[in-house]
Amino acid sequence: MLPNAIRMVEGELVETAEHSPASPLIELRGVDRIFEDEDGVRTQVLADVTLAIEAGEMVCITGPSGAGKSTLLNILGCLDRPSAGEYRFDGRDVTVLDADALARMRRNEFGFVFQAFNLLESATSQQNVELPARYLGLGAAPARARARKLLESLGLSERLDHRPSELSGGEQQRTSIARALMNGGRVILADEPTGALDSAQGEEVMSLLRELAARGHTVVIVSHDAAVAAGANRRIELRDGRVAADSGAMASESRKVPPRIETPWKGRGQGLGLPALLRDALTCLGANSLRTALMVLSVALGVGSVVALLSLAEGIERRILDTLQADRIEIHSLGSSNKDVAVQLTPADADAIRSEFPIVTATHFSIQGPLSIRWGTVAEETKIRAETRTQPTAADQRPWPLARGAFLTEEDSERREQVVVLGPTVAEALFEAGTDPVGELVQIEGFPFLVKGVLERSPLPPGMEPPEEMVDSWRATFGDVAYVPFHTARALLAPAEVAPVVHIDDGFRSFTKPFGALTIEVRVADSTTVEATASAIRDLLIRTHGREGFTINTDVELADTFDRMWGLHSVIQGGIAAVALLVAIVGVTATTLVAVGARRREIGIRMAVGARRRDIASQFLVEAAIAAFVGGAAGLLLGYWAGIGFAALATPLGSTQVPIAFAGWFVPVALCGGVATGLVAAIIPARRAARLDPVDALADE
Ligand code: ADP
Repeated sequence: MLPNAIRMVEGELVETAEHSPASPLIELRGVDRIFEDEDGVRTQVLADVTLAIEAGEMVCITGPSGAGKSTLLNILGCLDRPSAGEYRFDGRDVTVLDADALARMRRNEFGFVFQAFNLLESATSQQNVELPARYLGLGAAPARARARKLLESLGLSERLDHRPSELSGGEQQRTSIARALMNGGRVILADEPTGALDSAQGEEVMSLLRELAARGHTVVIVSHDAAVAAGANRRIELRDGRVAADSGAMASESRKVPPRIETPWKGRGQGLGLPALLRDALTCLGANSLRTALMVLSVALGVGSVVALLSLAEGIERRILDTLQADRIEIHSLGSSNKDVAVQLTPADADAIRSEFPIVTATHFSIQGPLSIRWGTVAEETKIRAETRTQPTAADQRPWPLARGAFLTEEDSERREQVVVLGPTVAEALFEAGTDPVGELVQIEGFPFLVKGVLERSPLPPGMEPPEEMVDSWRATFGDVAYVPFHTARALLAPAEVAPVVHIDDGFRSFTKPFGALTIEVRVADSTTVEATASAIRDLLIRTHGREGFTINTDVELADTFDRMWGLHSVIQGGIAAVALLVAIVGVTATTLVAVGARRREIGIRMAVGARRRDIASQFLVEAAIAAFVGGAAGLLLGYWAGIGFAALATPLGSTQVPIAFAGWFVPVALCGGVATGLVAAIIPARRAARLDPVDALADE
């Protein structure tokens, strides 16, 4: 049992049995159809066709092959337009409608049944049947319910989740009839509906179509099969594009008064919603996995190279800033012997700076200067460093690894432990080769200190490698240092009084002489604010100490130069990134164009069931955006691993490690960049798909 024609009243699907008005439902007057090929050769396929079809008629258009039957059917179904003449549907002039209005006509009034079924291969029976209602803007749940009901009424309740390839020809044709009825199917247009079926299945389909006509659907069949024609109430014969014979409409009094078919949900039409678009896009992407993979790969390579480039640039920038120390402010007591001029900086000053200025990321204080160190009878003078860091850093701020033992901890400083970590030069000077200094007791300015650890041979800062013959003496200079806990040094080694202070900076090492004056080192988050922050700190310290008995050093000139150079570098980098993304765009455009070419028939089917141009365009855009999003995410990982791999490969080649840094903002940039790439790339193919002619698209093999 087929359901009667159905319409929606207050959200409910109800049957309707209204009577048709007097005017014919379909009226053609003097319709010509002339095709013109690229060379301008004109073929007249229909000539002066005039006919009227009443609602509820079952008409078979017959005639020899090439007579123009399909062309006429396409015009009736608004898939094609007449070259001349008039077509009125339900009293309305159809020839003046634009592409989208024609799509709406197909969606609301017509149901197509094709010889080749024309079901979407990647969709199940149920999804195929739902499709016309989805283009109508019907929600997923009611569309699913109605599709199920239709399929069940056509004996396909066991086949809801089967794909077309899993169905027999007869089952496919019944599925396509269900699809034709989905939006009401006021007019069913069937082009050789039995042509691909055996006689039993063909007869089944014909009796279904007769039943639909009996229920009030207007059925127009194209067939050159005499048996099919015999099954219709009326036969119109075409020859050479002209109506050669017409058995004529049944006398209206003898025709059972047909119920008027209302299109269910007429008036809706916001098109496919985003969830439906996404679901559709995912299905299509999954069904064309090779093309999808190529799109993802294009974007992944583009975004990946940008990410690798960014991470290298970010790493280099951080390295340079570290080396330049442009974010650094150093404050020390004034080099003056006058106690009334110089001020003794204290750890409290560092605390105040930290709490006053949020831009300050770190403060360290240190006391350093030359002191005597002795083991047994061997005495040396070395640079003693007492600082709050718990990790020794080489001249370029990189961690300086230990050769033996352990480094100082915060507890060592809090408990004022008398422990020391020796630089390699001091260790060699005090201890004979082969002896382990760790655990030995040395004297610093006469106070006993336990050797806790010994540092590695000192690393040289990058970019200032000395000539070969000087490397050893440089290393010796840098290694000539010993670290002691900060508070231990302040308690034992630093004189309470401010002594005459001399800053010594011989290019390799800088310290304050004599040992005792506190140096505060401040780091700021943004090196461009160094100058302003330094000046604010100056004001704060003057307020605290009552006079400017200190100096504040910044390396602002260096930072300025760096900013300028880096700006230039960013432009170059942006250019390279743009080229990488352009290549990705070209890749996605090419793949999507191929996809549009390969999916012409699918596009034709969608148009036949009512997809408007923008529905088709959105589909390709959404598919490209999804693939590109995945590509962006893959590119992020790819770029990350490429960066790490590059660093690992390149490091053994150079003396310095290749810096790679990943910033959090790479993630949104890569994902948005990926999606933008996909959208831009899909614009041309999507337009091309949307502008396809439905008849041409359907004819695609
Ligand atoms: P039928 O369905 O009766 O076999 P058609 O309507 O398919 O006939 O085609 C009628 C004639 O029009 C055929 O000769 C066909 O080659 C021609 N024709 C159909 N479409 C086009 C077209 N787009 N361009 C040129 N000729 C066409």
